[in-house]
Amino acid sequence: MSYRGSCHCRNIRWETPRLPDWFTRCTCSYCRKSAAIWGRTDLGTVRIVYETGRVIRYIHGDKTQAFISCEKCGCTTHWESLEHIEPRQMKLNFATADFKLPASIPVRLFDGAESWRYLD
Ligand SMILES: [Zn+2]
Repeated sequence: MSYRGSCHCRNIRWETPRLPDWFTRCTCSYCRKSAAIWGRTDLGTVRIVYETGRVIRYIHGDKTQAFISCEKCGCTTHWESLEHIEPRQMKLNFATADFKLPASIPVRLFDGAESWRYLD
């Protein structure tokens, strides 16, 4: 069993063997505007395919992460940490999942705009 998602035109496709314990909505400006639903995944097991390699790597602010979006359709599929810390961090945007998100997995609100804490 694996869980799959992609950008709208399927240029960027992802696959993960398991779902996270919770999803995260973040209050930071990028996450608000992109309406992302983040989920932590293990970089060692998640598989990402770039069909054409034409992606946008958006880096801003403190330059600790890159948001990856499709150059053609614009959907943001994931972010990758740019910090040299092991294990490398990344999160998938489960708003780009090919399946309906299970209601059994909670969606938590993270205050990335200010306190850098979960608000629950
Ligand atoms: Zn696309």
